[in-house]
Amino acid sequence: MPRTVSRNISILGAGPAGASAAIAALQCGSSARLIEKSEFPRHKVCGEFLSPEIAQELDRVGAWDAFAAAGPARIRRMQLHFGKREKSSRLPESAWGLSRFAFDALLLEGARRLGAEVRRESTGGETVIACGRRSRGSRRGRRLFGFKAHFEGPADDAVELFFFHGCYVGVNAIEGGKTNVCGLGPEDFFGRLDFDFDEVIRRSPALAERLGPLRRSMKWLCTGPLEYAQAFQPEFQRDGVYRAGDALSFVDPFTGSGLLTAVKTGTLAGMAAAMGESPSDYLAQCRVALKKPFEIAGIFRRAVNTGWAEVLAGLVPGRVLFALTRPGK
Ligand SMILES: Cc1cc2nc3c(=O)[nH]c(=O)nc-3n(C[C@H](O)[C@H](O)[C@H](O)COP(=O)(O)OP(=O)(O)OC[C@H]3O[C@@H](n4cnc5c(N)ncnc54)[C@H](O)[C@@H]3O)c2cc1C
Repeated sequence: MPRTVSRNISILGAGPAGASAAIAALQCGSSARLIEKSEFPRHKVCGEFLSPEIAQELDRVGAWDAFAAAGPARIRRMQLHFGKREKSSRLPESAWGLSRFAFDALLLEGARRLGAEVRRESTGGETVIACGRRSRGSRRGRRLFGFKAHFEGPADDAVELFFFHGCYVGVNAIEGGKTNVCGLGPEDFFGRLDFDFDEVIRRSPALAERLGPLRRSMKWLCTGPLEYAQAFQPEFQRDGVYRAGDALSFVDPFTGSGLLTAVKTGTLAGMAAAMGESPSDYLAQCRVALKKPFEIAGIFRRAVNTGWAEVLAGLVPGRVLFALTRPGK
């Protein structure tokens, strides 16, 4: 039986997942309304590393040309730093660095161009929930927080990860020759340093040396608490809404696949909502795509907490580690 297209899709959140959902719904012939509380463009705490597979997903939502025009940095190498030890490898395919300031705005602009309406206030009853990750009360002290700032100075083509004191900090180039520095770590460590992220950087001599020639060009931004979660429980299959992006699954940012997952699940959610596909069929597709990175990220987080990350990274080739954290097709 031919499916009827649902006419009005309302989406909570206009980040990468929400904007992609709107574009997909509009491409299916529905109208789309986005509810977004923030003014765009805006900075957001993020490593701003986009894995190679993003090209295909952006092409699907007609955003590839705008992405290329924004001048993303090409990232060809990965370097892991544990104290004085280093592990380097070439990425199997080159990845990209683009600020969330540019990335989120270009996706939202794509949705607007196709006719999406954008509103500040929700009147309730949204079909697609793409409002980002939820924070539920985890134990103080052990909670994780993220931080980031852009730097100016010489840029290169590596994504570098520095591990120290139960946290890690990623460094990679973005558009305009800038470098993004973004970290994640436990509240009790940051608390002891009064959440002074310049001081956090100094606690890793290797990272401090890497950032030595660079100059910070914006204030540190901080976000948290961060909680890894997946919304695949039975109640989420019955409430008739389609969750996408971090609202569906927030995986350790180490995998560098959050944005890819947001665009992928957002697109699937927009199509499913527009075509009247059941939320449980939609979730079944998402579960297949997200199982692997979520499991690997869980193992990795335990390894960082117990000091085994160095041993693990020594045993697993960088290319394999990178491949293991990619979402399935
Ligand atoms: C420290 C850190 C580093 C990361 N690094 C990377 C990385 O390098 N690469 C990568 O791929 N991923 C990374 N991620 C993950 C990535 O940021 C997320 O996966 C991505 O932002 C998810 O997109 P989203 O659209 O689901 O949610 P969001 O980007 O959070 O967008 C949600 C939108 O909903 C809006 N909203 C929320 N509540 C409401 C409401 N009630 N009403 C209206 N609007 C609302 C928000 O303002 C926001 O614009 C990182 C995450 C963290 C925390």
